Amino acid sequence: MDIRLGNGFDVHRFGPGNHVTLCGVHVPHDRGLAGHSDADVAMHAITDAIYGALAEGDIGQHFPPTDPKWKDAESATFLEHAVALADRRRFRVANVDATIICEFPKIGPHVPAMQARLSEIMGLARDRISVKATTSEQLGFTGRGEGIAAMATAALVAN
Ligand code: MG
Repeated sequence: MDIRLGNGFDVHRFGPGNHVTLCGVHVPHDRGLAGHSDADVAMHAITDAIYGALAEGDIGQHFPPTDPKWKDAESATFLEHAVALADRRRFRVANVDATIICEFPKIGPHVPAMQARLSEIMGLARDRISVKATTSEQLGFTGRGEGIAAMATAALVAN
């Protein structure tokens, strides 16, 4: 059985705004996340985990931030591409597990919506999609509220 694991990690800094987009879900907050696309740090980590499992580089290689085409892009485009690439390589995503690291906003209440949105984008059952969150105990840049970090693991199984 051919099983591939990949990991992804991403950080976006806070900037002006009234919400953040995490796993495709609009989460009200007193700041936004800065980035070239919609700055969905969690979806970027998941996408990179899938590219990683395929040894197919990272999001920046497939969607260069220097290309104005991807300005304000919805990150679902990136995740859909990674899943489609896996399919072309004859792999399917078995599960993903993501951790969002921040003090605020509180993630827990939004997890079911995040699982539902990721399930829709990836064509993957919700019980194969884990989204969880932790603070960094007020330490470091996430602890100081300067931004949000996210990490993810993806397992791919050969079709
Ligand atoms: Mg990113």
